[in-house]
Amino acid sequence: MTKTVFITGGTGGIGESAVRLFSEEGCNTAFTYYKNTKKAKELAGPSVFSVQCDVSDTKSVNEAVRAVTERFGKIDVLINNAGISRQSLFTDITDDDWDEMIGVNLKGCFLMCRAVAPQMISRKDGVIINISSIWGVSGASCEVHYSAAKSGVIGLSRALAKELGPSCIRVNAVAPGLIDTPMNAHLSKEDIGAFTEEIPLCRIGRPIDVARTLLFLAGEGGRYITGQVIGVDGGFLI
Ligand code: NAP
Repeated sequence: MTKTVFITGGTGGIGESAVRLFSEEGCNTAFTYYKNTKKAKELAGPSVFSVQCDVSDTKSVNEAVRAVTERFGKIDVLINNAGISRQSLFTDITDDDWDEMIGVNLKGCFLMCRAVAPQMISRKDGVIINISSIWGVSGASCEVHYSAAKSGVIGLSRALAKELGPSCIRVNAVAPGLIDTPMNAHLSKEDIGAFTEEIPLCRIGRPIDVARTLLFLAGEGGRYITGQVIGVDGGFLI
């Protein structure tokens, strides 16, 4: 039977790569976009369905999940990938900055899991993969709110894996290192060069590196893997 995968943030660097890969593998592939309507139209196809969604908003999330379920009948694999990052001195982080960061990266993940879990529980089958970050594992200077949100994603994933395991639902987090996407467009060549020197595999990641890990975790290879944080960082955090 054809699997349906639902990826949030399909218009971003990692998300687009995942949408293309799962679709090439024959999955019904649904994804959310937030502002990038142009990219969403470019990716859409007979078995690729896009829906506009603000993942930090309960109504928007519930409507997106309803639309995807109506289109494909069910959601087998949920990938919470939508995210934002900002750099800021800790003492400059405003209440609004904090709420936005936690809202998109952590609450968004919670809202999506809550909206999709009931159908997975009643089928006793499902896979949830939440995108964290190396900075959610180790913490990054000048990214305290990002690090806190991504750490929260790990806590959410581990706890949910315990709660949903008896319903045959696997929940894992993926923690990418520095990946070449629009999220890092602000970094200079020098910044990237300095970071690369710390990576045992001597290069920053490509979106497809993360997408292939998602495909593995979602498929047969991941059948006995739950509650884990899988690093995709070229060995940066060894
Ligand atoms: P990206 O290229 O900047 O894409 C971000 C995606 O999130 C876009 O599809 C964007 O939608 C969507 N988005 C932003 N705000 C949203 C909101 N309020 N509601 C719904 N969607 C929203 O990012 P990326 O580099 O691919 O990152 C993907 C994930 O990996 C993120 O969770 C990020 O934190 C994580 N990550 C990235 C790196 C890295 O180095 N790139 C490292 C570790 C972890 P529109 O474009 O349509 O507005």
